[in-house]
Amino acid sequence: MSEGKKTQFVTAGRNKKWTNGVVNPPVQRASTVVFNTVAEKKHATVNRTNKTLFYGRRGTTTHFALQEAMTELEGGAGCALFPCGAAAITNTILSFVSAGDHILMVDTCYEPTRDFCEIMLKKLGVETTYYDPLVGEGIRDLIQPNTKVLFTESPGSITMEVQDVPALAAIAHEHDIIVMLDNTWAAGVNFDPFAHGVDISIQAATKYIVGHSDVMLGTAVASEKYWDQLREQSYLMGQCVSPDDAYLALRGIRTLGVRLQQHGKSSLELAQWLAERPEVDHVRHPGLESCPGHEFFKRDFTGGNGLFSIVLKQSDPKATTALLDTVEHFSMGYSWGGFESLILANEPSSFNALRTLSNPNFEGTLLRIHVGLEDLDDLKADLEKGFAAYNAALA
Ligand SMILES: *Cc1c(COP(=O)(O)O)cnc(C)c1O
Repeated sequence: MSEGKKTQFVTAGRNKKWTNGVVNPPVQRASTVVFNTVAEKKHATVNRTNKTLFYGRRGTTTHFALQEAMTELEGGAGCALFPCGAAAITNTILSFVSAGDHILMVDTCYEPTRDFCEIMLKKLGVETTYYDPLVGEGIRDLIQPNTKVLFTESPGSITMEVQDVPALAAIAHEHDIIVMLDNTWAAGVNFDPFAHGVDISIQAATKYIVGHSDVMLGTAVASEKYWDQLREQSYLMGQCVSPDDAYLALRGIRTLGVRLQQHGKSSLELAQWLAERPEVDHVRHPGLESCPGHEFFKRDFTGGNGLFSIVLKQSDPKATTALLDTVEHFSMGYSWGGFESLILANEPSSFNALRTLSNPNFEGTLLRIHVGLEDLDDLKADLEKGFAAYNAALA
């Protein structure tokens, strides 16, 4: 965690204008904002894009507090809010592309991001080229005259490759290409997007920002250059969130620092412990050398979290099932970033559908693990039990 962040987690967005003098900003529910004079209505209309009450879809004081908090944490000129992370990704891309454009998408992107490119962008006449997360200078060869967006996600989904974002961004900017980052893994705070050349930093706030597995929410923080277009075009597409959800995200931010620190400490220790297990081929934890792109993690990130993957030596779905059915603290769930531990298995063949060119060609099963806030000894004992069942079931 970088210097000064812990204080920011406590203070961000707690402007007296939004809190009205109490600690937390109240939940302000509104569709209609009423004006008693023509002058009041005119003032609201002129200032509607700048945190002034105008109409519910433009946000209320609860939303303004969260938007302000996110720009304080990530930097940038403003934050657009979305009903989930997927909406943040798709609407941010849609705000900047037109028919005939081309985008560069990292091959290790979140699966629904790929599906959006394949189904929606294709339908709209926008072409996608997937690039290897570790492409480096090779990105130059993939840039076309109509390339509009370079989309990054670091570390990559499931296989955890850490990207050299500053190098890619520098090349993209030579061609006036907009650099977008899915910054969910770093929770927007352990990787400073704007210091590393990113133009728009997107998050599934559903994960660590909210942090308690009870809200769907997306955010996109943009630099000065792109903020107006992002704000207005996502507004056109009707993107807005409930004030209750915005409130819960603000509450999550207050403990984000201590949660991330604990998740990070436990996950590194568990990853090291797993690396020694005889069943494990290698560990893909950005904080360990065995993770592709670890050098970029060391250079660019200021902390870790609870999410990493391990690759087993063998692929034996029956044995994997025995492990998954035996562990009790690790439930299976399609999310992460909450206080609870989670586990998901990917057999090597599943990557044929998930990757275009960087198919990691594992021999063994990949297990993605989210380390929650439980006692580490309980988690280790749970996995020991799981591995015992795994070994007993091995063909
Ligand atoms: C979960 C996730 C998303 C999507 O967020 P939702 O809130 O579930 O729509 C996007 N990117 C990454 C990296 C995620 O983990």
